[in-house]
Amino acid sequence: MAVRVAERKQQVTTPMRVQRKRTKGFKLQAVCSNGLPTVYVGRPTKYGNPFNGLGTVELTLVWYREVVSGGWNPKVVPDYYADWQYRLVYEAQHNFVAGFREWNMTPQDAARTYLRGHDLACWCALCPAHTDGKPFDVECADCAPCNADFLLAICNSS
Ligand SMILES: [Zn+2]
Ligand SMILES: [Zn+2]
Repeated sequence: MAVRVAERKQQVTTPMRVQRKRTKGFKLQAVCSNGLPTVYVGRPTKYGNPFNGLGTVELTLVWYREVVSGGWNPKVVPDYYADWQYRLVYEAQHNFVAGFREWNMTPQDAARTYLRGHDLACWCALCPAHTDGKPFDVECADCAPCNADFLLAICNSS
């Protein structure tokens, strides 16, 4: 009996990031075999990265992490951004937060409420080692960086 309990403990399901594909007949739910329901979190969902196209992928993800963690420090936008560029970034973060206000929630609350216990999907590429899903607690330099990683981190932190 004691052994059984130990076994079961190790089977706690780890949420994963999975990759959505344009292949015909592709089923998101079939990608990952861990049995968790999958939610797509790319654009144009509320969770999608609103900063796409406003900076390098790295920068937009820094901003994404900032806004989804509940803050906005203007210093995250580089000095070399002109005022009009800054305004676009600021408006993007403002609209992102406003989208969640419709639910009377912060992005962080929404992630914890609706995304916890789910696999999260996006178009961003996963490396060959993670085609079946990247566990949220694994960092991988070969997988493309993605906003889903931050959402997974937020909704799986206590
Ligand atoms: Zn990987
Ligand atoms: Zn992505």
